[in-house]
Amino acid sequence: MSNPSCPNHGEMKWKEGFAKATGKPYAFWTCPTKLPDGSWCPTKGPKGAPGASAPSVPSQAPSVASGEVVELLTRIAVAEATRLLESIDSRLNVIVEILREISLKDNPLN
Ligand SMILES: [Zn+2]
Repeated sequence: MSNPSCPNHGEMKWKEGFAKATGKPYAFWTCPTKLPDGSWCPTKGPKGAPGASAPSVPSQAPSVASGEVVELLTRIAVAEATRLLESIDSRLNVIVEILREISLKDNPLN
């Protein structure tokens, strides 16, 4: 793998480090040639570190699949919540029955 080259000046160089002013990391190909006006050649190389054959594209899971997963998890959550509420409801009914029996026993008018 050879270095990328500037169409005007030839081989480019890989620069990386941290900006002294901001502390932000930088890493890029640059043409190490100064132009007659004193500025650096503005030609920029391809993205990617030396040895990288092509710009790396982050692999993403298909959005359809993740959407299906979310839907499935939502259904499971709803089913679990429904079951929990029914469980609580039946227990509350038992408690209500017990309280009713107690109040009937304690109330001589009934
Ligand atoms: Zn150049």
